[in-house]
Amino acid sequence: MQEIGSGTSTGGRKPILLSVRGSGRLVVGLEIDASSCRLLLVTLHGERLSMVELPLERSEVATVVEVVAAGVNSLLTNRDRSTLLGCGVAVPGLVDPANDTVDSARRLGWEGTPLRSLLAARLGVPVMVTDRGKAAALGELWVLGKERAHDLIYLYLGRGVAGAIVLGREIHWGASNIAGEIGHMTVDPDGPVCACGNRGCLEAFVSTAAIIEQLQPVLATKRDGPLARALRSDAHDSDVIAAIGEAATLGDPDAGAVVSSTARWLAIAIAGLINVLNPSVVVLGGPTAGWGRVLTDAIDHELGQRALPLSRREVTIVIGHARDLAAPLGGAALVLQRAAGLLAGSEPNDGGRRSVA
Ligand SMILES: [Zn+2]
Repeated sequence: MQEIGSGTSTGGRKPILLSVRGSGRLVVGLEIDASSCRLLLVTLHGERLSMVELPLERSEVATVVEVVAAGVNSLLTNRDRSTLLGCGVAVPGLVDPANDTVDSARRLGWEGTPLRSLLAARLGVPVMVTDRGKAAALGELWVLGKERAHDLIYLYLGRGVAGAIVLGREIHWGASNIAGEIGHMTVDPDGPVCACGNRGCLEAFVSTAAIIEQLQPVLATKRDGPLARALRSDAHDSDVIAAIGEAATLGDPDAGAVVSSTARWLAIAIAGLINVLNPSVVVLGGPTAGWGRVLTDAIDHELGQRALPLSRREVTIVIGHARDLAAPLGGAALVLQRAAGLLAGSEPNDGGRRSVA
């Protein structure tokens, strides 16, 4: 288990002001990915206590529920279990509030999966579930605190491309909770087929798999060097993506070309979004956002040619501050936002399905 220090050390705000009644109560924020579960324990005042990451060797929901239960037990070692108020979950899929299920979580093989109810029954506390894009955006909003932008777009760049739209300092959920699925905006009607079945979605061009695929021809000409070694290895996608970013920063032309291409596709989507929504900040998170300035500079350059001058003038493209804690932090924030109702017993144990399943 990893001790991670208090929330205030990174300038995080207290997500909710609670009476002394809530003191001593705890919340778990959880991110489920295809290969691991990461759980974060926080107090009702937003202090981050500890974190645990457990591997997922199988992705059937029953197995995942047991892994999560083991993680919660680990976090609560030497603590009174009755202090746990709830668990907020970020999943790499869509959440259907009407049916209380997780859908389209392809890397987990989940469709119509009743994760929330299964986990609530196993843990014995209220559970709230949302997609990773919105959870990570909530985590970034938490870290941004009082400085957070009034209107913001969040993009998660990983094996999938998720996102969230923040309007008036609040997440915009949409009619069926899927607002912000920016990865499935069509950016080229004749582009490759996306995992969702559409053709030419943003995700089909800028997912980590699509980026790595673009560099395969390089292996024919590049025998050595860090980039070729990373591409030849069986390293995790996120490690290969990091190697591409380092190579681009050091001036490798092949890596630089892939960064430029990725930035171009992202800028096509972002230009449309900022023209429509006129945010002041676009936050990039996930493994590919680790490219840092080499990526944001390239997007800025592309936006100069694609976005309306007034949209472009007011917007800043930044890398998220919460980094890989964003999604579990956002999971915890889901529960903290409802903590007052949960403490008062006025919040039904249905995860507040009006906005999250
Ligand atoms: Zn798609």
